[in-house]
Amino acid sequence: MALRRFRAPGRVNLMGDHTDYNEGFVLPMAIDRECVVTATRRDDGRVHARSRGETADVDAAGADEPSAVVPEWGRYIGGVVRALAARGRAPVGIDAEIESSVPAGSGLSSSAAFEVAVALALCDAGALTLEATEVARACQEAERLATGVPSGIMDQLVSVAGVAGAALLIDCRTLDVERVPLPDGIAVIAVHSGMPRTLETSAYAERRAACEAAARRLGLRALRDATLDQVSGDPLARHVVTEDARVLETAAALRDGDCERAGALFSASHASLRDDFRVSTPELDALVEELERAGAYGARLTGAGFGGAVVAICASDRAGEIGATAAAAYAGRMRRDPTVFVCIAVDGAGAIV
Ligand code: ADP
Ligand code: MG
Repeated sequence: MALRRFRAPGRVNLMGDHTDYNEGFVLPMAIDRECVVTATRRDDGRVHARSRGETADVDAAGADEPSAVVPEWGRYIGGVVRALAARGRAPVGIDAEIESSVPAGSGLSSSAAFEVAVALALCDAGALTLEATEVARACQEAERLATGVPSGIMDQLVSVAGVAGAALLIDCRTLDVERVPLPDGIAVIAVHSGMPRTLETSAYAERRAACEAAARRLGLRALRDATLDQVSGDPLARHVVTEDARVLETAAALRDGDCERAGALFSASHASLRDDFRVSTPELDALVEELERAGAYGARLTGAGFGGAVVAICASDRAGEIGATAAAAYAGRMRRDPTVFVCIAVDGAGAIV
C-alpha cells in the first residue's frame, strides 16, 4: 500500500482552564506545531510505530493493555488502537513513522496531536469513517486508557477541528464548536516556564473531585449550571463559574477586535487560577507579570497549572520583542530557562496530500 501521511496540530488554550470537565466553555486554537504520521499497511495484524528512535508494537485489535505498553509513549498507541477497535475499526495493522514539532510536556498538547495523528492513520488503514467529534472522543478515551488521567476533551477536539486564523469556542457539554476569528494585528505567545508540571496528576484529580462534589452539593449536574451567587463562598467553584463567563466574554471581545478588553480578561483569569483555584506557582506568576510589564495585553497560566506554560496576547508587530524581553526578565529573576513560542492558528488534523 502506498505511503499515507496525516498531520494533527498541538494547541494553546486562550481562555477557560479547569472548565472542560465541569461541562463549561473553553477557547483554544490549533497551532503551527504538529505531529505527522507516515503510515503503510501491514498484513500481520500488528501496529508497529516508531518515534524518537524507539519502536512500539501492539495488537491491531486492541488486545494489548494500553497502560502496559513500552516504551512509555507506546501507551498512547495502545490507547488509540483500543478506543478505535471499540468503535468498529477493522484490526488492520500499520507501520507508522511518527515525527512531531510539538514540544512534549510544554502545555501545547503534544499528546493529543500524537493521538489524533495516529488515529487518522489507523482509521484510514481500517476503512473507518468517524465524525470529527467522535475522533476526538476516541482520542480522549485513548489518553485515559494510556495514562489513567480522566482529562477533558478540549485538546483532542481542537486538534481535530481547529480553523486557520481562529480560536474555537467549545461548549464542553454539547461539544458544539463556534469559530472566533482572531482580530488582525493580534499575536498569541505561549511561554514555557522551564518548570515541569509537578503534582499535576494528583492535584488535577483532587480539584476535579472537589468540583464534582460542589456540583452535587448544589444538586446540579455540573458546575456549568451554577450561578455566581451559589458559589460565592467556595473559591474552587467560584473559579469555574467566573472562568466560564470569561470564556464567553473573551470570545465576544475578540470578535469585536477589542484586544485591551481580551487582555484584561486574561489577567483576571490568571488571578482566579492563582487565588481561587490555587493551581499557579511563583514561576508562572512571575512570567505573567513580566509579559504584562513587557507590553502584552494580558497573560495567564494555561493548562492544568503547577508548572508548564503561560499564554499571552499582544500586538503582532511587537510579539518577538515582548516575548524576548519577558523571557529575559523572567530568566534573570527566577533562574529558570523559559522557551517562547509565537503561535499561529492553523486548521485541524487531516491527511497530507
Ligand atoms: P503535553 O500534551 O502537554 O505535551 P503530556 O504529558 O500530556 O504533555 O504528553 C506528553 C507525552 O506524550 C510524552 O511524554 C510522550 O509519551 C507523548 N508524546 C508526545 N509527542 C510524542 C512523540 N513525538 N513521540 C513519542 N511520544 C510522544
Ligand atoms: Mg497532553
